[in-house]
Amino acid sequence: MKFEELVNPAVLTQPIYEPGKPIEEVARELGLDPAGIIKIASNENPFGPSPLGLAAAQRALLQGELYPDGGCFALKQKLAARLGLAPEQFIIGNGSNEVIEFLGHALLRPGDEVVMGAPAFVVYKLVTLIFGAKAVEVPLVNHRHDLARLAAAVTPRTRLVYVCSPNNPTGTANTEAELLAFARSMPEHVVTVIDEAYAEYEPNAPDLRALVREGRKVVCLRTFSKIYGLAALRIGYGYAPAEIVALLNRVRQPFNVNAIAQAAASAALDDREFTEKCVRENRAGMAQLEAGFRALGREFVPSVANFILVHVGDGAGVFEALQRRGVIVRPMKSYGMPEWLRITVGTSAQNERLLAELKAALRK
Ligand SMILES: *Cc1c(COP(=O)(O)O)cnc(C)c1O
Repeated sequence: MKFEELVNPAVLTQPIYEPGKPIEEVARELGLDPAGIIKIASNENPFGPSPLGLAAAQRALLQGELYPDGGCFALKQKLAARLGLAPEQFIIGNGSNEVIEFLGHALLRPGDEVVMGAPAFVVYKLVTLIFGAKAVEVPLVNHRHDLARLAAAVTPRTRLVYVCSPNNPTGTANTEAELLAFARSMPEHVVTVIDEAYAEYEPNAPDLRALVREGRKVVCLRTFSKIYGLAALRIGYGYAPAEIVALLNRVRQPFNVNAIAQAAASAALDDREFTEKCVRENRAGMAQLEAGFRALGREFVPSVANFILVHVGDGAGVFEALQRRGVIVRPMKSYGMPEWLRITVGTSAQNERLLAELKAALRK
């Protein structure tokens, strides 16, 4: 009997997620000096990890022989105090991606439907498919989630609806009023997930806590991978009514979040100096990129996140040309936008380099 005949059939048809290549790999493949390569492909923080988070991580390593606190007690206390919610309303994941997986384990059976925007964060679809559920993709309108269309795609088989705001890869957001009304309008058999991975960058980010306090079937996702600069440590969280959190906890591994990440995340939450600097720099960098794209006569999608879509025509070709020049960005073919690149806002020097290399790459 072949191994293929033994596995869950969803495994055989599962699409493969293609992450941005690490700098070292690109350097090896193209014979470039890694020191001269910039990676602005995965919306990572160009200012490194939060310094307070880094110091806490280094201290936590001294107790590396111990298992972590599987319940993430200290971090939940801190989040609860910060957000004005209860510790039981938080689920901590090995990245917020793991919380997306918990949702699949807890809610999805073969034949169920999951409604999501297209293009939106690809992990929603990957997790949906592996559980044998159906991804119902609703095209964005003007690169933004159209919540009325999303609502219209809900059927009796729908279990989950994902709204990514600000959306990856478009950088567009829905308003607080839109998101609150949408979640309140969902029928009883649907859990609404609002992914706020980039909310800290957004001016006047929506406050969705009322949905949790009202006991709506809603899970809001946040991450330490972006504004806090801790992507390598893999930690993120969801906040939701305690009943939902309790169910998600049942499908979680006992020690899913490591102690280094927990310590770093707790400390990073206090690092206002760092996060305020990142927001400021991101805004200036976004203006720098927009001005540069205008000068090159290139269309872009105005973004409230830390990345921006720019129209280049031959996305794959320009991506390759940039990579040969030591600039790694994200081609958008797998998101159904082959003429676009997604570029993370870097430091001002990185933005300048990107614009110069892009100008050269487009001339070819
Ligand atoms: C980056 C990102 C995340 C973060 O995922 P982690 O697993 O916390 O690193 C979540 N959602 C979206 C839309 C993202 O772009």
